[in-house]
Amino acid sequence: MSEKLIIIGSGPAGLTAAIYASRGGLNPLVIAGREAGGQLMLTTDVDDFPGFPQGILGPDLMGNIKKQADKFNTKFVNEDVVNVDFSKIPKAITTESQTLSAKTVIVATGASAIWLGIPSEQRLIGKGISSCAVCDGFFFKDKNVIVVGGGDTAMRAVAYLSKLCKQVTVVHRRDALRAQFALQELVKSKNNVNFIWNCEVEEILGQDKVTGVKLKNTQTGKISQLQIDGAFIAIGHKPNTDFLKGQLELDEKGYVVLKNETHTSVEGVFVAGDVADYHYRQAVTAAGAGCKAAFDVEEYLEKYHQTV
Ligand code: NAP
Repeated sequence: MSEKLIIIGSGPAGLTAAIYASRGGLNPLVIAGREAGGQLMLTTDVDDFPGFPQGILGPDLMGNIKKQADKFNTKFVNEDVVNVDFSKIPKAITTESQTLSAKTVIVATGASAIWLGIPSEQRLIGKGISSCAVCDGFFFKDKNVIVVGGGDTAMRAVAYLSKLCKQVTVVHRRDALRAQFALQELVKSKNNVNFIWNCEVEEILGQDKVTGVKLKNTQTGKISQLQIDGAFIAIGHKPNTDFLKGQLELDEKGYVVLKNETHTSVEGVFVAGDVADYHYRQAVTAAGAGCKAAFDVEEYLEKYHQTV
């Protein structure tokens, strides 16, 4: 028997869609993924999600949203989706152990920060290394940080951190930024921002917290060290859409293309959150998109039942 709605992903977008769809009587099934909860599971204090004046830990926030979805009898499968066939009616979704079918699908698989991939980085994530300036910048008030990357994400992070930190140093592997001109001008106008050009991060130093960084000059090979309290890695995000290739229209970076609000290129398949949004990327905007997607599914199913 096919489900009325399968939601793929269990970050703020997917779980908010689940809360609304459950309350709307759609009895949704969430395919949560093995690493359920999304990017907030990698964050410590969340101070900007409305409703928590004292702040809340990212994993606690996700735990609460999950409990709220549970309360309305959302069903969960803690597996990853391996592939989908959206050309079928109902749509087929294959996880690691089974193939499920649904009249409608909400894709809410989010995006993952791209990391440098060096061993010291994995050890110190959450201990001075972050991929989210807005989430974690506050913990580096009056401290010295680096931002790695030369694109829009990096320059947005620099602009944000420059208001909080003592010194923000941009470490970029080339001698020119990729970011849009206006952002470049903005960060260059800040007097607590400086640039280290033509350098890659060789190693992040520190045992239990970040204390410094070892840099390698890409032109000369020369190694240098810098004392820092934190490192923001801003070398891009990758939408989690590998399993959607050939099934949904994706843009050149792999983000799902929105047709109308939460609608995608395939009828009956909707989208919510960072998987279609590289701009705002906030838990609260993702949650809002999840709510909209659930409403759009309800509306679609009402029509669907009349015609099929
Ligand atoms: P991006 O444009 O791909 O920039 C990534 C940056 O990281 C580049 O400067 C790149 O260097 C550097 N980089 C990549 N891999 C690296 C590595 N292994 N080591 C060191 N540096 C590395 O990504 P993004 O900044 O996240 O932007 C993604 C998209 O979102 C873009 O289309 C962007 O315009 C958009 N966006 C827009 C806004 C906005 O405010 N409008 C904000 C954020 C993002 P190279 O320059 O040498 O390649």
